[in-house]
Amino acid sequence: MRLSDPLSTAFRLTEAHKSALRTLGITNLKDLLYHFPSRYEQAGCEAAIAGLTPGQEVVLVGTLERLETKKSWQRRVPVSEGYLRDQSGRIKLRWFNQPYIAKMYMDGTLVRASGRVTGSPEKLYLANPQLQKIAATEVGLFSKASIDSEQKNSMEKSGLPGAGDPRTFSESFFAENAPSEFFAIYPESRGVTSLWFRHAIAKILHEPLLEKIEDPIPAAILKKYNLPTLGAALVWVHRPERLKDAEAARKRFAFEEIFFIQLARARERLQLAREQSFTIDATSSDVQKFIAAFPFAATRAQKRAIEIILKDMQSGRPMSRLLEGDVGSGKTAVAATALCATVGMRPAGQKVGTLQAAYMAPTEILAKQHFESFIKYFEHAPINIGLITGSGCYKFPSKISREKSTPISRTQLLKWVANGEIPILIGTHALIEKKVIFKHLALVVIDEQHRFGTAQRKKLMQKETRVPHLLSMTATPIPRTLALTIYGDLDLTLLDEMPPGRKPIITEIVKKEGREQAYEKIRKELVVGRQAYVICPRIDEPDPDKAFALQAKSVKAEAARLKKEIFPEYEIDILHSKMTPKEKDSVMEKFSKHEVDILVATSVVEVGVNVENATVMFIEGAERFGLAQLHQLRGRVVRSTHQAYCYLFAESRGEAVLKRLRALSTAKNGFELAEQDLLQRGPGQLGGGKQWGISDIGMEALRNLKLVEAARTEALALISNDESFAKHPVLGQELATRAAQFHFE
Ligand code: ADP
Ligand code: MG
Repeated sequence: MRLSDPLSTAFRLTEAHKSALRTLGITNLKDLLYHFPSRYEQAGCEAAIAGLTPGQEVVLVGTLERLETKKSWQRRVPVSEGYLRDQSGRIKLRWFNQPYIAKMYMDGTLVRASGRVTGSPEKLYLANPQLQKIAATEVGLFSKASIDSEQKNSMEKSGLPGAGDPRTFSESFFAENAPSEFFAIYPESRGVTSLWFRHAIAKILHEPLLEKIEDPIPAAILKKYNLPTLGAALVWVHRPERLKDAEAARKRFAFEEIFFIQLARARERLQLAREQSFTIDATSSDVQKFIAAFPFAATRAQKRAIEIILKDMQSGRPMSRLLEGDVGSGKTAVAATALCATVGMRPAGQKVGTLQAAYMAPTEILAKQHFESFIKYFEHAPINIGLITGSGCYKFPSKISREKSTPISRTQLLKWVANGEIPILIGTHALIEKKVIFKHLALVVIDEQHRFGTAQRKKLMQKETRVPHLLSMTATPIPRTLALTIYGDLDLTLLDEMPPGRKPIITEIVKKEGREQAYEKIRKELVVGRQAYVICPRIDEPDPDKAFALQAKSVKAEAARLKKEIFPEYEIDILHSKMTPKEKDSVMEKFSKHEVDILVATSVVEVGVNVENATVMFIEGAERFGLAQLHQLRGRVVRSTHQAYCYLFAESRGEAVLKRLRALSTAKNGFELAEQDLLQRGPGQLGGGKQWGISDIGMEALRNLKLVEAARTEALALISNDESFAKHPVLGQELATRAAQFHFE
């Protein structure tokens, strides 16, 4: 048996198992062993049903009876009910809005149920209990004597403590038959339960297999950071006898994951440093003139960023820089200066023409906006600027007027880009299609794009033997640990200063009874000619047949309601992700021309949209968004020196929700909010590790700056000593397998 063997070599799987395991991304034995528990439940602390009192949080063990789902039309949510019976009695179970529960469990199923005892003493029930199927053989364990004090101590600790275990792992594991006190609870999918995982993993996690596992992480590194070996960690993570062991194991896997990502980044960085790039002389007076011609004085942060970028581009090595700055911090001016320096250069050895630059934006709306602003920035320079998007191409200036741009055919545009007559090309992804060929592409600027890797850059090189410089820009505030991890190959510059004169946005949390008043405040702005956004969490009304229908405001219904009941005298339109790019463009155009007063939208307006006259935002269901995301959303209304307002309306008004939202009035910038998201809501709320191919355990590691820094330091050191993994073949192989799973590029 090898780890790469498919599951079917070790298990007889039903179709239901297969499809559930596929959903969880588990295909071979290794995937199974790397399917880590989401938590552990402790045996020996179950209550008896007789004698429960309201308000208690309890864990019960018993069998299910008479589960059924009723649709209660008054409440508009389905209610499932049933009973749990143990030797002492029986209690009602009740779930709201989880109709599938009744279908998942048969009568007589043995379960652990945890939840809060609710109701009156005569009519008790367990509200929304969590169920875990268990095996009859596991029941005995639950009645085992309670845990000893050492274990209690280690359980009270949280986070990832440093220590591994002084005992060798075979001592603790093969001393066997002292069964684990802790029950691993796994992320499940319909068809495979935690019980299934416990059995399956116990079946393969035995000595012969474990002895054959080679640990890819060098022993010296494990020793230095006191991390358990792979074999030990696998046992400890699935079948811990003590929580301390499970924690040490999780710490190892977290380190492992970040280490591999860092290895990939470090290798990329090293390879790139050997490449040639265009040497761009930024001392030219044209660049200084360009900066002086800004319609504003550059902030100190902008000047610093410009200086660093120009220095990068002068070095002859490809620049790889990430410019991170809050919405409105003025990234465009910095990018424009880099463009200016680039297109001011002649290609080496040529008498005519200039180097070229490409500027890529994530949406057509933004690409068009940038085209317009670059026309202004380069007003005084005799420079052609092209725009390429899925729905059309433009060139500035037009033949007839130096002030106007003109639509041109794609073929014509591509011809001019290929012969170098258009030095600056702005566009969406259409920009990096194969057919777009530059003559001397020296700089690529990527706006609001989270990753753009060496691979794509090399694809753009075409005839050149030199790699273009890369300036990546983002307003997505992410915590430092995440930045170090996913952007490990980039140099980082922060624009941590806003242009002067910006009034801090006034952010208010609106109470239920304050809604009307908030609308009046919006009306006040509308009356003096400003515009407003209303953000809703959903596009459409929930489908009542869907089990998970959210009871949240939808763009379509809310727009209709506002028009009918609140703002009949104003023009209202909608914007959401299911509209075609053309529809979105046309709505945005109407909004920027002020033909629309109120734009009701989903969070699609989050990215980059710039309508200076919009000064108010009302956010429905604010608790559904992360702090960093709310911050970005409200950034849409701080585009000018007008006072801006943001009203947050939360449907759930728990103290925790309010506390979280209040941070929006106190935090200094988006980065601070991102850190708070990480601490308060956990890594799951950072926009999802899935997006980057990082697992839950890896995301968990991001709370731990020391761990991330250690993984990065070790990866850099290892790559610079042994780039080809000649001394670490197992590590090299494992990296090759994993690199295919990162979705960084
Ligand atoms: P972002 O960083 O979000 O891309 P932009 O580059 O779009 O920000 O800039 C936002 C607005 O601020 C633009 O209207 C821009 O002209 C203006 N701006 C940029 N830098 C300054 C500055 N130093 N002083 C005043 N206004 C500025
Ligand atoms: Mg921008």
